Amino acid sequence: MTERLAAYVRKGTGAGDNKLMKKEKARLGLGVSLAFVVLLVLPYVKPEIDGSLREKWGMAATVDSGRIQNTILNNSNGDKIRYVALSYDDGPNPIYTEQLLEVLEKENVRASFFMMGKQVEAYPKLVKKVADGGHLIGNHTYSHVNVCQLPETRVREEIQKTNELIFDACGQSPEWFRPPFGCNREKLIATLDMYQIFWNVDPLDWSVQNTGTIVNHVLKYVSDGDIILMHDAYPTTVEATKILIPKLRAMGYSFVTVDEMIQP
Ligand SMILES: [Zn+2]
Repeated sequence: MTERLAAYVRKGTGAGDNKLMKKEKARLGLGVSLAFVVLLVLPYVKPEIDGSLREKWGMAATVDSGRIQNTILNNSNGDKIRYVALSYDDGPNPIYTEQLLEVLEKENVRASFFMMGKQVEAYPKLVKKVADGGHLIGNHTYSHVNVCQLPETRVREEIQKTNELIFDACGQSPEWFRPPFGCNREKLIATLDMYQIFWNVDPLDWSVQNTGTIVNHVLKYVSDGDIILMHDAYPTTVEATKILIPKLRAMGYSFVTVDEMIQP
């Protein structure tokens, strides 16, 4: 039986956010331990999600707190195993998704891909390839819209159309939704039977497009239970991934998909 520790996910980008998140994580530790004591003692009572915990857990609280998955296990030596999830948005891309899949396959790493419906429509075979590689496929709207600036009906269309295209391409209907620009529509997403998911570490790969800068940012800010945001649309991101995987492994990290990090 595994030890349980909650992962939490919230969006954050720069150094300031990351510092804040580390503090929050430390504070969260005690709260999480207490929460699990309660869960062990009262396994049949569904716990209420406390408002302040909801805030700290950010999007993980979208998922019932009693169902938040453990992220920490011990290996055979009793050492803590640390987990990290690589995630890629805005694809599939006709050039770089395939290159990225080769890197991931060679390293035996499964990642999470949040796809845009219009890219799915244009490159359905790539969607199938991603799915066949055992990676998680999530929804990132049809046309990369800001879901906070659209009426509900339009948001539903954007998401449902994308789900249908992904299903047609690979036979899977996504459960996970990552909103473009990190805009929170938690309640609406829940009505679609989907989970909203953000990220913790954002190297701004789309902006810097510099392999070294991406690698350095991730290695500087990564910690256990983090979800790293990148985009399978740039050669520098593919190169950065190639460098990051062995470096993160050397730091003791194992790679999981976002659903494994936060199990619904
Ligand atoms: Zn995006």
